[in-house]
Amino acid sequence: ICWSVGGGWHRPRVQPYGPISLDPAAAVLHYGQEIFEGIKAYRHADGSIHTFRPDQNGLRLQRSARRLALPELPVSYFVQSLRELIAVDGAWTPSGADQSLYLRPFMFAKEAFLGVRPAHKVAYYLIASPAGAYFRGGVKPVSIWLSEDYARAGRGGTGAAKTGGNYAASLLPQAEAFAHECDQVVFLDQDRNVEELGGMNVVFVYKDGTLVTPESPSILEGITRDSILQLARDRGHTVEGRAVSLAEWREGVASGDIVEVFACGTAAVVTPIGMLKGADFVDEQPTGELALSLREELTDIQYGRREDTHGWLMRLDD
Ligand code: PMP
Repeated sequence: ICWSVGGGWHRPRVQPYGPISLDPAAAVLHYGQEIFEGIKAYRHADGSIHTFRPDQNGLRLQRSARRLALPELPVSYFVQSLRELIAVDGAWTPSGADQSLYLRPFMFAKEAFLGVRPAHKVAYYLIASPAGAYFRGGVKPVSIWLSEDYARAGRGGTGAAKTGGNYAASLLPQAEAFAHECDQVVFLDQDRNVEELGGMNVVFVYKDGTLVTPESPSILEGITRDSILQLARDRGHTVEGRAVSLAEWREGVASGDIVEVFACGTAAVVTPIGMLKGADFVDEQPTGELALSLREELTDIQYGRREDTHGWLMRLDD
């Protein structure tokens, strides 16, 4: 779908997958004016294809659009794009445990204009790719590198938007994590409060059963996190969103107040954190049953193995 000043959203169409032609002066190539989403389609045992809380992705795309001075795509157009892709390419949705069709909606400034201002011409696309199980051989706890030298986002910046620049900023710290034999990197904000991993939110489980997740204006509000926390509330857990300092994390683990730490996001769903490593320390993290049991409940809903009492699923192939 295209958008232009004066023309609004127009030219919705389905076209064969292939290269996009862009003017070398297209604003996105110079100023990074672009946003995206990540969402999955799941094949149920009866063959039907469903997606999970697409309205939430559509609304988040709108919030990202506002921050990046891009036009807001109506949520109904967003959902329609998912349905149309499934109508032509739904057969690519794999079946089987933890298999899905990963859907990647994205929007970028395509106007050829070298001045720095919001582009007058924008394009929205949706592509897809079959995705296998994120973890081969079962869910394993991941090790996390604490990034002290680099920030993912600053106060007032674009941290809460799903925009490429945030991911560009995380590539070097992620490489640093690999160099320290860690799987993922965790970012702190300027007050040394925990933000998130490069592509997942963090949740702490306390001894009294309370789940605490960092809240801050520079964190991407994950839909997996929101759903997992809702399932925990359904089970009677107290859930808190608040600032969590690095000191609270490390002391909580050392004293036994924090009994589980896990990360969550669309790609990996839920993954226990097994180790936190910094320049001068290595903290083993406690792992427990709650993260894996919430993961199982959520994936059961997504794959149609358990009743969807929250009305989170939307059938795409009818
Ligand atoms: N934080 C970041 C930076 C992410 O890229 C993602 C993945 N979209 C998440 C958190 C988790 O969000 P969600 O659960 O909606 O996938």
